[in-house]
Amino acid sequence: MSFTNVLTALAATGGIGDFRPLASLEELAEKHGRPSDSGRGSSEHEWPYWLRYGDVRLEACECRIVHSLQLETWNDTVTIPADRFGEYVALEASTTFRHLESGLLVAGVSWTTITRRPDQFTLEVEAPHATVHFTFVTGGDDEESGKDDALLYGVTAQEFTHWCGQS
Ligand SMILES: [Zn+2]
Repeated sequence: MSFTNVLTALAATGGIGDFRPLASLEELAEKHGRPSDSGRGSSEHEWPYWLRYGDVRLEACECRIVHSLQLETWNDTVTIPADRFGEYVALEASTTFRHLESGLLVAGVSWTTITRRPDQFTLEVEAPHATVHFTFVTGGDDEESGKDDALLYGVTAQEFTHWCGQS
């Protein structure tokens, strides 16, 4: 399993295995054990709440439903939960636009490109029940220069149907 495969599956399904927006925290704990870390966003409010399984960061509301998933990908390796209880897998994180683009094309996933800053761009994918963003940094002022070699900086998947006023 390469990290590009994980990202392509995330674009196609909206999740990393069981870890996806609208997943229930109870089910994740049953299947994967306790999170590696967790905490509150604010000392004054119990919710929303964040959890980490390896490098996969989740945000959840009081309904114990996952709203969003985030993954920082600018480190050398990224650790994600494996399919089995309590197990993790470490993958080489370095992913370029060219890598992900070829994975998405093979998987038949389409995207739109959003450019808000000259040194970065974001691919937006409408996955089932989630909007997925892949943000790349080019490290240059010229948008077109080095786009293929732009490095993946971060990934988010956000659901857009659950509304309880806490997200
Ligand atoms: Zn809720």
